[in-house]
Amino acid sequence: MSHDPHCLFCKIVAGQIPSRKVYEDEHILAFHDIHPWAPVHILLIPKLHLSSLAEATEAHAEVLGRMTVLAPKLMRELGVTNGFRTVINTGADGGQEVYHLHMHVMGGPRPWAKG
Ligand code: 5GP
Ligand code: ZN
Repeated sequence: MSHDPHCLFCKIVAGQIPSRKVYEDEHILAFHDIHPWAPVHILLIPKLHLSSLAEATEAHAEVLGRMTVLAPKLMRELGVTNGFRTVINTGADGGQEVYHLHMHVMGGPRPWAKG
């Protein structure tokens, strides 16, 4: 499924729910997390709906690779200079709450609220 009308992050991609956008291209959207754990906390998502990393196939390898190499670039642009944390929560035991794959990227001076 490329767009799930019930999915929160598909609605953000479609502009039906507002977000504080950091980056956008044809395949990827990055925006600030609404409840940040760290001074800088963004989410990187593929624009096409993919419920979790558990559902990823070879077809997703390129977009997942692009998200990974985009993370340090966006952190630099957001002024993060002392390292950052990347997290992909997957499934119930992985603590996933929104079932549209997203990479958390968190940085900025500690202490953080979480993580
Ligand atoms: P998960 O637990 O699924 O890995 O993380 C979901 C993340 O999405 C949480 O950190 C939560 O704060 C964030 N989030 C949930 N709803 C919204 C929203 O409407 N807008 C934004 N920007 N972030 C959201
Ligand atoms: Zn979705």
